[in-house]
Amino acid sequence: MKTQNFSLYKDSVFDKCPECKTVGTLRRSRGRNFFENMIKNSGFLNYYRCRECGWRGLRSNFSLKKLSWKMVFYYIIMIILTAYIVKFIVVRFVMK
Ligand SMILES: [Zn+2]
Repeated sequence: MKTQNFSLYKDSVFDKCPECKTVGTLRRSRGRNFFENMIKNSGFLNYYRCRECGWRGLRSNFSLKKLSWKMVFYYIIMIILTAYIVKFIVVRFVMK
């Protein structure tokens, strides 16, 4: 089986700066307060700062363009299946 180099995780360090459009100037920025750290800890978003123009803002850690519909379909099936199995176990063994 051929293994595909499939990764949802995207590092915005190699992204274009939204302000000055320079590639490769974004650096991860530390959260300034509790709220920003909470966002960072969620794992979905990260704060970035541009070394060129000083732009600072949120960038997503995930690239939705790489997410194919086939994968979405598989994920949904897996979620439904897991939910069904969990429900079955709960009804069968817990709720007696
Ligand atoms: Zn910039």
